Amino acid sequence: MTSRNSSSSRLSDLSREELETLTKASGESSYRAGQVWQWLSQKGVFDLDSMKNIPAKLRTYLNDQCPASALAITHNSIAVDGTEKVLFTLEDGKLIESVLIPAEKRTTICLSSQVGCAVGCYFCASGIDGGKRNLTSGEMFEVFMTMRRLSIDADRPVTNLVVMGMGEPMFNFENLMTTLDRINAKDGPNFGARRITVSTVGIAAGVAKFTASKRPYNLAFSLHAPNDRLRRKIVPLESAMTVEEIRQAALLHLRETGREVTFEYVMLKGVNDGPREARELRRLMKHTQAAVNLIPYNPVPQLDFDRPDDGAIDRFVDILLEAGVKVSVRRRKGADINAACGQLALRKSH
Ligand code: SF4
Repeated sequence: MTSRNSSSSRLSDLSREELETLTKASGESSYRAGQVWQWLSQKGVFDLDSMKNIPAKLRTYLNDQCPASALAITHNSIAVDGTEKVLFTLEDGKLIESVLIPAEKRTTICLSSQVGCAVGCYFCASGIDGGKRNLTSGEMFEVFMTMRRLSIDADRPVTNLVVMGMGEPMFNFENLMTTLDRINAKDGPNFGARRITVSTVGIAAGVAKFTASKRPYNLAFSLHAPNDRLRRKIVPLESAMTVEEIRQAALLHLRETGREVTFEYVMLKGVNDGPREARELRRLMKHTQAAVNLIPYNPVPQLDFDRPDDGAIDRFVDILLEAGVKVSVRRRKGADINAACGQLALRKSH
């Protein structure tokens, strides 16, 4: 997989310092760099021609040095429940997607961190074609700002951000942290850190860096099974952390940052949704201070998995609740618009 760093040639990939250096090199004062930064980071405008208070000479100079974005919305669909799925085409023609998920009291953006995914979870459409490349920090930021604008246009402003779309976030750690820091920055969207969650299958080096950095964002592990034997049948990546390593990492994260992690658990009918797995998960949770988020599967036509029956979900929840485990269930969203992770990009690229 090729990786591009955050100082590549597009305007949205520049840091504020890089933008100031370029602005000074053009003969303009750094105050102009602040104005351009405002367009990019607060207004989400990435097209230089629209920055009307910026002198034409500086706009031309910046465009020559680092052209504006080529990110474009290719497809946009809204489900009957209000879930909005957007497919973006990148500069190199690759496709990524993002989803806006409305709920009673919140609206969540689901953000991708890579094109495709090398982890290849058997239930997930994003892994079918493997991992293609990391997204740059500018690409992720532009997607976030575009989705944020759509949420405002739809009169349901975004309240939460989850990095749970295409890709394994810890494989693109540096670019992702640059993006989240910019989303959280006071001179940017100033989006609350506690409303941001990064979800990983457990990549040891990335998780260790994340915890050590003490960044104020939430951490979630995509667990999906209470033991390694079953987990390997769902998450095939050999280098992913074991269940015990994840448990230890969750405890360390709590000790170091004071923040509890969440275990995501995609429920697959007849695979990991039975009372036996629920009881095993309950035992695991006894020794782990974390919350469990159950996600009944959104079926993907190309894949051989089904959503559990409501009765199986209720039984699973009851078994966890009996032991006082903190558990939530994500309600089904966007089933009529291919809202499962990677599903729309897969359909459009095949
Ligand atoms: S579920 Fe996440 S980690 Fe697994 S293949 Fe899909 S995008 Fe990758």
